[in-house]
Amino acid sequence: MQRGTNLPALGGYNRAVVLDLIRRAPDGLSRVELAGQTGLSAQTVSNVAKRLLADGVVLEAGKTSSGPGKPRTILQLEARARVAIGVHLDPGVISFVMLDLEGRVIAHSRSLTPSATSPAAAIDAIASSIEALIDETGVDREHVLGVGIAAPGPIDAARGILIDPPLLVGWELVELRDALLEATGLPVLLEKDVTAAAVAELWLRSGEQRDNFAFFYYGTGFGIGLVLGHEVVRGSSHNAGDAGHIIVDPRLGGDRCSCGRTGCVGVLIAPAQLVQEAALAGVVETAAGELDAERVLRGLEALVAAGERGNPAASELLDRTAARIADALVTVVNLLDVDRIVFGGPFWQPLGQALLRRLPEGLAGNPALVQRHEIVLAESGAERDITAVGAACLVLDNTFSPRPSALLLSR
Ligand SMILES: [Zn+2]
Repeated sequence: MQRGTNLPALGGYNRAVVLDLIRRAPDGLSRVELAGQTGLSAQTVSNVAKRLLADGVVLEAGKTSSGPGKPRTILQLEARARVAIGVHLDPGVISFVMLDLEGRVIAHSRSLTPSATSPAAAIDAIASSIEALIDETGVDREHVLGVGIAAPGPIDAARGILIDPPLLVGWELVELRDALLEATGLPVLLEKDVTAAAVAELWLRSGEQRDNFAFFYYGTGFGIGLVLGHEVVRGSSHNAGDAGHIIVDPRLGGDRCSCGRTGCVGVLIAPAQLVQEAALAGVVETAAGELDAERVLRGLEALVAAGERGNPAASELLDRTAARIADALVTVVNLLDVDRIVFGGPFWQPLGQALLRRLPEGLAGNPALVQRHEIVLAESGAERDITAVGAACLVLDNTFSPRPSALLLSR
């Protein structure tokens, strides 16, 4: 009925196409080059460029004199003109990052996830930390594109709801996206944690490294983020990546998993579980009281340090953990034929080097491994904050990429 209603959306699309090309060209692009690469008319490119310049998102960076014709003005991204905020809600720790338009971390912060508290109080705390990040950096609030929040699954992506994350007690059917929108006044996008981690890797890597990989996500819970054929795999309900119930030790007694069985890898390699086992074996100081994220991290550091000093119980625990991770990864590699596994997440760092030394043997020597090609093992780029970075990258994606991911935005 109203022809005009489509125009803003179309303008937005062309804008995203042009901005994305400028972002990917470190030396900038001229309007003529942009028209050539986008297929848009010179007039349309000129109009889009005028808007981008007026918004301060791109700037004119000199002229090129190469080739025939008159010199062309180069357009370059003004990386600091806008920022995106990423939040990673892990059951143990909450991480916050602010990224510029090139995906560089400008600021970050971290806090322990409040336990024995209501989701509403935790969401207020998250909103306050976001405000603190904006204040501390002095960024103009108008220049904050939005907030991406990564959380444990399962999620209802369309409605922005956490359904019933097993390790976040009391967080059943929490309308996280809209509550955070309400509290901050900023557009909010919700993504599953392992997917956000994989998205961050896609942004940080280049070339073939981006094509096919599995992201071994090690938080309070464990999961696998996937990129296949250059695309993030989200699955039919946006909840791909649960691998915690792969059974790696079927004969084992002891603690049952939430699924009612024993021997699930998610339980056996959980950070707090390792610290408790190390304490029982006398490798680290007995962990009395509640094991919050900081104490778990310190416990893991102590475990690795003991292993390096040659403590046999510590080495044995690290060997066993690596073997179990390798067993689970063999299932992933067999199923998906990935040749690259990236490791990260909030609890990965203390264990990283100790496990990466042990994993190649556990993978290559695994009798269940079908494809005998090389498997590259690498650590993620942004260390502990990788998942928050990924959540912020999703906001940038939404700005740059002419894709319908905007459907996930609350407003
Ligand atoms: Zn299980």
